[in-house]
Amino acid sequence: RQAPVTFPPVLDTNEKILVDSFDNTSISTWSYYYTHGAHLAGRNKTMAQWTADKWSEYGFTSRLDEYYVYLNYPVSHSLLLTYPNGSTFAPSLKEEVLAEDDTTSYPDSIPTFHGYSFSGNASAEYVYVGRGQQVDFDRLEALGVELEGKIAVAKYGGPFRGLKVKNAQEHGMIGCIIFSDPSDDGNVTVFKGVAAYPDGPARNPTTVQRGSVQFLSIYPGDPTTPGYTSKEDSPRADKSNTAPHIPSLPISWVDAQPILQALNGFGTTGTAVNRTGWVGAIPGVNYSTGQGSNAVLSMSNIMEDVTTPIWDVVGIINGTNEDEVIIVGNHRDAWIVGGAADPNSGSAVLIELAKAFGKLAETGWKPTRTIVLCSWDAEEYGLVGSTEWMEEYIPWLAEAAVSNLNIDVAVSGPIPGLSATPELHAIGVEIMKKVAWPYRGTTNRTMYDVWMEEDGEIGVLGSGSDYTAFVHRGIGAIDMGAEGGPEDPIYHYHSNYDSYHWMSTFGDPGFITHKAMGEYLTLLLYHLSNDAVLALDPAGYVPELNTYYEDLTSTLEEYNATLDLSELSSAIAAFESSAGEFTSLRESAVSANDADLVTVQNHKARDFSRGFASQGGLPGREFFQNLIFAPGLDTGYAPVTFPAITESITFAGNETLAQEWVGKTAKAIEVAASMLKT
Ligand code: GLU
Ligand code: CA
Ligand code: ZN
Ligand code: ZN
Repeated sequence: RQAPVTFPPVLDTNEKILVDSFDNTSISTWSYYYTHGAHLAGRNKTMAQWTADKWSEYGFTSRLDEYYVYLNYPVSHSLLLTYPNGSTFAPSLKEEVLAEDDTTSYPDSIPTFHGYSFSGNASAEYVYVGRGQQVDFDRLEALGVELEGKIAVAKYGGPFRGLKVKNAQEHGMIGCIIFSDPSDDGNVTVFKGVAAYPDGPARNPTTVQRGSVQFLSIYPGDPTTPGYTSKEDSPRADKSNTAPHIPSLPISWVDAQPILQALNGFGTTGTAVNRTGWVGAIPGVNYSTGQGSNAVLSMSNIMEDVTTPIWDVVGIINGTNEDEVIIVGNHRDAWIVGGAADPNSGSAVLIELAKAFGKLAETGWKPTRTIVLCSWDAEEYGLVGSTEWMEEYIPWLAEAAVSNLNIDVAVSGPIPGLSATPELHAIGVEIMKKVAWPYRGTTNRTMYDVWMEEDGEIGVLGSGSDYTAFVHRGIGAIDMGAEGGPEDPIYHYHSNYDSYHWMSTFGDPGFITHKAMGEYLTLLLYHLSNDAVLALDPAGYVPELNTYYEDLTSTLEEYNATLDLSELSSAIAAFESSAGEFTSLRESAVSANDADLVTVQNHKARDFSRGFASQGGLPGREFFQNLIFAPGLDTGYAPVTFPAITESITFAGNETLAQEWVGKTAKAIEVAASMLKT
C-alpha cells in the first residue's frame, strides 16, 4: 500500500536528540518506582508529587490540580456457596501472594473488589448469564429462565463490567459475581501444558480482575458532579443512576469452578443456549443456566463512601503560540501495588519523554505550541481525574486544545496498536516510520512495518480511558499501546500479577517495547508541537465518514429499518468539498510562504472537530456529545459510529427518533465543514 520504509529511520537533528535520549534502563527504573507503592485513587499523593518533581527536573512547570470526588473503598466482603444438601464451599476471594511480585512488603495491598460497587448483602439461588450483555439476557428470557430475585454469575470479557451489573439489576437480580474464564486465554493456558505465572507465561489460576462497575457508557467522571468540576465546596448531585444498586464481586476461575459445577445438569446446558462466548473453558463445567439447581450463594460487599481529594499532575512547557495546546495524558492510579502495564508502562514512558524534551530544550529549542503533560488520578473509578479537569478547563480547552495524546497501557505485549480520530491518522502513520521497533527477536524493522504486518488499521475510539472527556467535547485524540497476541504471555489485567516482575520477565524483558513506544509518542508530540504547519489532516475524515455511512446502511438493512439518509450524505459531500478546499488553501499558503495564512489554516485544523460535538449530547446521555463516535450503550468500551442514529434503531427501535438524529448528525458535520471554510 505504501513505499517501503527505510531502515534505520532517517531522523533530523532534533528528532535524533529526542530518540537518543531514550534509554531502556532508565525506563525500567521509573517502572520500578511506580510499581512499588500505593496507587489507589486518592491514596497516591506521594507518587503524584514524585511525578511533578521529575517533570520539573526536566524543565516542565509542574503542579498538582486537586479535586474532591466521590469514591468508595473496600471494607470487607464474603461469598459462600451452599449446596442443596447443606454442605458449603467458601471461595478464597484472594490472589495467591507471590514472593516474586514484591507485594508482601506493602501490607495494604488491595482486596479484590469492584470500584463504585454497592454495599449490601444478597443470598439467593443463582443463574449463569454468559457475558451479561443485553443479548445474553434476552436469550435467558426466551429460554424462560427466572431472573427476578436471583444472583447473576457472569463471565468477564465483552461489555464493560459495570454494564453486566446494570443488566442484572435491570432484570430484577439482587447480586452479581463476575469471574475470569480461561477460554479468553487461547493456547497459553495450564490446560495446554503451559506453566502459570510466576513459573511461566500462562495466567495464574487465582487471578482476579478488579475494576469499576459504574455505568460507563452513561456518564464518566465524579457521579456527584455531572457536567461541572468537583471542588471541595461544589454542590453534589444524586448519584443513584450512575452505579449499581446491587452488590457485586469479582472472582477467579478457581473460585468460580465449584459455583458453576453446582449448576451442571440444571436448566439449559451451555451448548444448547447457543450464544457466542457463552461456553467457557473451566474444567468440569458445562455452563448451564442453572434453573432449579437449589444451590445458593450468599454474598456480602461492604464499601466505605468517601469524598476525598485526588490529584492530577500537570506539567507545562509554554509554546510560542499559547493558543495552541497539546495535552498528553496517562493515568497514575491503579487497583494494585504493581500496575506495571496498567497504567505505569505509560507513566514510565512519560517520565522518559519529559527527560527527552528536557534534553532538547537545553539546545535552546522552544515548542511552537504549548505542551501540557497530565498524570491523571482516579481513571480506574470512571475517568474521574481527566473528566473533572476537562470540566474545569473547558473554556480554555475549547479555544486552544489541538489534540489529546493518551497513553494508558503503553505495553502489555509486543504488538503496536493505535486508535484515533481521523485527522490524526496521517501523522499517526507517518511517525511510525521513524521508530525502530524491536520485534520477536528482529531489530531491523520500523514500527510501521510491524504494525502493517500485524494490524494495519487505526481503530475508532470508544471509551475505557482518559481521551473520552476530550473526544466528547470535540477535541481530537489518539490512544496508543502495544499488546500481546494469542501466543504471547498472558497479561494479568487489574490483578496483583500485573507486577514489575511480570513485566520484566514476561511482558517486556529489557523494556525494549517501552522504549520504542516512548519514542513514538515523543516524536508524535514533537511534530504536533513544533511544525509550523500543524500536522492535522481534516480530510482524513472523508474516507472514514463514508465508511461509517456504509456501516449505517448495513445496520438499517439488518434491522429492516428505512430512513432517509439524504441529509447525511449531502453533509458528508459538503465536508469533503470543504476539506478539499482547506487542503489546497493550506498548500498555497505554504508555497507562498504566507505565515499569516498558515496560522489561519492551523486554527481551522485545531477547531473544526468542535463542530461534531452537540450541546445536548446523545439521546439519554448528555455527557457524550460527539455525534460521530461514542462508546456503545451496550458495550461501554467498543465504539459505535453515528451513535445517535444507530442506537435509535438498534436500541430504541424508534425510526422517528433515528430520522430526527439523521438531521442533527448531518447538521454537526455541516458545522465542522463550515469551520474548515471560514
Ligand atoms: N479503564 C478502566 C476500566 O476499564 C476504567 C474505565 C472507566 O470506568 O471508564 O476499568
Ligand atoms: Ca464533574
Ligand atoms: Zn488504565
Ligand atoms: Zn485499568
